[in-house]
Amino acid sequence: MKNAFNETAAKEFAGRYPGIPDELALRIYTSRLIGRDPGLVLHGGGNTSVKLRFRNIVGEEQEILYVKGSGVDLASIEPGGFSGLDLSFLRKLRNLECLSDEEMENQLEIQRVESSSLSPSVEALLHAFLPHKYIDHTHADSVLTLTNQKHGEDLVKEALGSRVAVLPYTMSGLPLAKEVVSQYEKNTNLEAIIIFNHGIFTFGEDARTSYEKMIHYVNRAESFIQKVIQGKTLITPRTDIAPCKDMVASAARVAQTVRGVCAHQTSDGSFRRFYVETRNEPDFVKISLSKEAQAICDSGVLTPDHVIRTKNRMLYIASIPENDNELKEMVKRKVETFKQDYHRYFHDQVEAKGVDREELDPYPRVFIVAGLGLVALGFTRQAALIAADIAGHTVRAKLHAGMLGKYAPISDSHVFDMEYWTLQQKKLGKASPPPLQGQVAVITGGAGAIGFGIADRLLSAGSAVVLSDIDEPRLQKARSILAERYEESQVDVITFDVTNYSSVEKAFDEISSRLGGIDILVPNAGIAHVAKIEDLDPDKFDQVIAVNLKGTFTTIKASIPVFKRQGTGGNIVVISSKNVFDPGAAFGAYSASKAGAHQISKIAALELAELGVRVNMINPDAVFGDEEISSKLWDLIGPDRMKSRGLDYEGLKEYYRNRNLLKASVLSEHVGNAVVFFASNQTPTTGAALPVDGGIPAAFPR
Ligand SMILES: [Zn+2]
Repeated sequence: MKNAFNETAAKEFAGRYPGIPDELALRIYTSRLIGRDPGLVLHGGGNTSVKLRFRNIVGEEQEILYVKGSGVDLASIEPGGFSGLDLSFLRKLRNLECLSDEEMENQLEIQRVESSSLSPSVEALLHAFLPHKYIDHTHADSVLTLTNQKHGEDLVKEALGSRVAVLPYTMSGLPLAKEVVSQYEKNTNLEAIIIFNHGIFTFGEDARTSYEKMIHYVNRAESFIQKVIQGKTLITPRTDIAPCKDMVASAARVAQTVRGVCAHQTSDGSFRRFYVETRNEPDFVKISLSKEAQAICDSGVLTPDHVIRTKNRMLYIASIPENDNELKEMVKRKVETFKQDYHRYFHDQVEAKGVDREELDPYPRVFIVAGLGLVALGFTRQAALIAADIAGHTVRAKLHAGMLGKYAPISDSHVFDMEYWTLQQKKLGKASPPPLQGQVAVITGGAGAIGFGIADRLLSAGSAVVLSDIDEPRLQKARSILAERYEESQVDVITFDVTNYSSVEKAFDEISSRLGGIDILVPNAGIAHVAKIEDLDPDKFDQVIAVNLKGTFTTIKASIPVFKRQGTGGNIVVISSKNVFDPGAAFGAYSASKAGAHQISKIAALELAELGVRVNMINPDAVFGDEEISSKLWDLIGPDRMKSRGLDYEGLKEYYRNRNLLKASVLSEHVGNAVVFFASNQTPTTGAALPVDGGIPAAFPR
């Protein structure tokens, strides 16, 4: 592990935040160095602090502990990511015999010096009791590899020397904080404190010292492990199975099936789906094909902090049957057993502890799939990414631990205390999820005004969105605007040709391997051509038919196997046109292709109802884009229309507005709202057409 401290960068940080003392700016700098090294902490894990003196509003000098806010990611922490607490009061809490979770939470809230600051880390008391100005805490892989062992204490002593104290696992809170500080007081020569199955604390009077102590001890742990495992074979390969030949296609099949099996109804009646993240780096594939894979799945987490992200155990899928039904049945059986084990664990712990808790969902979050690698689930795409990252570090560390001796994880009892700790659950957020959370929407023609408007509305309803278009630069522009507006990981893009079926099939595999599958398909890609039949170039006609009609057909067709493997229904919302009911002269290719697409969509409604897939059409008219994303249709036909009517751009908009009954400007977000309406299953409707046109009597559906 590299010591990344750089004097010039540190100086730059000291001047970066006006009004913030240098000591806190340096705290931000070294916190980020820690956060950026996944060997030290992952996604919001670990915490850091600094103790400062300030004059308060009545002129008294006050000691303030700035400690990381709960759940904040150290890698990108800013001043607002720290919570300032009244240090002299917190120190007095050490005199208490005990402190309930609720009271600790209350104290950490009311001792904040700014009411708007974040809730402080649950390890704040430990930071408060230790006397050092700077404290750094990580869940370093190598330290956990040493401690999660039957004879871990001896290993730690041997690897890290005598200036390190080793404490047995105790849950974060008053008892742990008291124990840590009394260890330090017994031996003030200590440079680090290690808590079994949890992590390491280092400290110092300046930011650099505390950080460099962390790197020093983590490096010693790493080199000790390397020395022991050198030359040994880490895994015993299975001889009965080989890596998947087509990784993307296999990942897609497995992801669609797993997410279908794990989708479930919750107690509040809502239906929850997962996003899926697959990892097939060569060592994960090797591990998945090893005799150790099952044992890796069955043993618990590296540190209890991970349990809310990954659950305590993983699920091993020892082979991928060729047949879809066999695959689904096998995954169902495995998940059912996992759920039963989880129920048993929950009930045993609740009974043993005599506590009352509401059981969390019993579904696995991480699978090791033979020949494929790791497959992780999450209710948001970010949660799936986090689970996959943690799982990756976990399987590697467990292999190393197996070489050192025998991997010995923490007991179920401690895991339960952490998993069902209210302060831990808070990190996941309590708010009820948005209506389309867990769903994946694919929008073709996503770089145009309508596609962009649909994506915007679907994202705001909680869906992940994959935009496709053949226009790369416009596609990237749409992506970056949406990624700025919403959670970046919920936005993805892909390029494929809707007129080529195998290109569509490949793209849907790629989408499924990246996100898990498809729930909402919006065939929206379209091109227009203005010409009377007499002048209409037959090749142009073919082109318009290929994109508008065949493109609707290919995407619907390619989505059917996805919907089938998932088995959780879905929505196809086809962007049709006002022209289907009310065609215009010199617009034959467009109107005919759209009418064909409309008709094939009705057929799809008839055929896909048995899968629970609804197919509905939206018939917009005269949708103008904005400055950010213009309408490609109007870019093309607008000038012509303006010329024939003697109007400028604004005049043309006005003309269309006045043409409809409601005198409404039709915006792309209106089309997006209609897509969200259908996609959220608010009415039992399929095969319907919804005009979004301000009211055009000639285009009333019939
Ligand atoms: Zn910790």
